[in-house]
Amino acid sequence: MPRNSEAFFLFLFIFVTYFIFIHFMSCKKVVDIVIVGSGIAGCTLAWQWILNGKSVILISDVEKGSSAVAAGVYNPTILKRFTSVWKSAQQLEVLNSFYPLVEQITGIPLLHPINILRRFHDNKETKTWVKKSYKEDLKDFMSSDIVHRDIYGIDAPFNFGLVTQTGWLDTIGFMNASLDYLKSQSSLILESFDFDELSHHKDHICYKEWKAGKIIFAEGFKLRSNPYFKDLPLQGNKGEVLTIKVPGLKLDHIIKSSVFLMPYSNDLFWVGATYSREDLTDNSTETAKEFLTSRLERFLTLAYEVIDHKHGIRPTTIDRRPFIGAHRDYKNYYVFNGMGSRAVLIAPWAAQNLYDTMYNDAVINEEMNVDRCFN
Ligand SMILES: Cc1cc2nc3c(=O)[nH]c(=O)nc-3n(C[C@H](O)[C@H](O)[C@H](O)COP(=O)(O)OP(=O)(O)OC[C@H]3O[C@@H](n4cnc5c(N)ncnc54)[C@H](O)[C@@H]3O)c2cc1C
Repeated sequence: MPRNSEAFFLFLFIFVTYFIFIHFMSCKKVVDIVIVGSGIAGCTLAWQWILNGKSVILISDVEKGSSAVAAGVYNPTILKRFTSVWKSAQQLEVLNSFYPLVEQITGIPLLHPINILRRFHDNKETKTWVKKSYKEDLKDFMSSDIVHRDIYGIDAPFNFGLVTQTGWLDTIGFMNASLDYLKSQSSLILESFDFDELSHHKDHICYKEWKAGKIIFAEGFKLRSNPYFKDLPLQGNKGEVLTIKVPGLKLDHIIKSSVFLMPYSNDLFWVGATYSREDLTDNSTETAKEFLTSRLERFLTLAYEVIDHKHGIRPTTIDRRPFIGAHRDYKNYYVFNGMGSRAVLIAPWAAQNLYDTMYNDAVINEEMNVDRCFN
């Protein structure tokens, strides 16, 4: 009997010591923030923390998300209706300081400022343009002088309107440069996030061996599989784009007609994009290709060859505002999503706002605060 009780206490001792050890060992690497997702949203968040001297762990499966197909255009105006984008002036200001800082650290050129020429469809549009170009929120971006310009290969009988302070971000370059940097800092985990390994505590979260004040989910359209945020009314909007080769076409502007024609490199151009809320299938379609080429041929008079055809699902919201903020019950779980069709412009500004709410007593902009979905 005594031998049995000795064995029992020894077993109990080992058992308890083991659990204390496991508890102590788990969640022992402390960082300021854990970020899930490495699209434009997740990479931008990571830089926001890094640029402020904070430590980051970014977890991603690096599967092709919407950011991998985005042309990366930033444009403070909506060129269908000639209106301004929500908070565009503030967002541009942050964009113009944020990406150059990333370029400086990584040594890779990423931002390509280039103006847009809006091709007019008729004289009525030209008149509307001039009228709108004097509006307070548009006058800094839309020039009231009509551009009369012959561009070889572009048919534009009603001329153009000039949009300034626009350009494009090399989105693939941005994500690759971000991942390379995070890897060099041992701040990158390449895996699909395992929700069973996540635990919420009063003033921190634990994920595997990591402990952080908070975790931010920047998962793009995959948010719909996140057990904590899947009920948010995130919509998908499928977009398709073409890369075309047009020998002889020289563009020093992006042309915007019913589709965008954007110069990339040498003879390569980007044509986009389509918008579909109905078809969210994971494939490129002939219908979209026909739509894009037929619209393109309304103004491109040169022969071209389609080199590539890509698709992606934009993470969009009903009110066209992002979802930023904390979970209603799990206060250290955050969402950063709903960038719609303007991630390049919105993400740096939204990331700065989120950062400031955590460290500088700011509040999340009311219109994009995810709280609006919990009421
Ligand atoms: C055709 C098209 C053209 C576009 N053009 C432009 C444009 O010119 N300018 C512009 O600003 N925007 C554009 N957009 C919109 C832009 O692409 C999106 O707003 C943006 O990419 C959203 O980025 P994100 O980081 O939120 O999501 P995503 O790009 O989808 O990135 C999320 C990443 O996180 C990973 N991930 C998600 N969940 C997990 C998980 N649980 N574990 C591990 N990894 C995970 C995903 O696999 C993915 O790699 C375009 C979109 C499309 C489809």
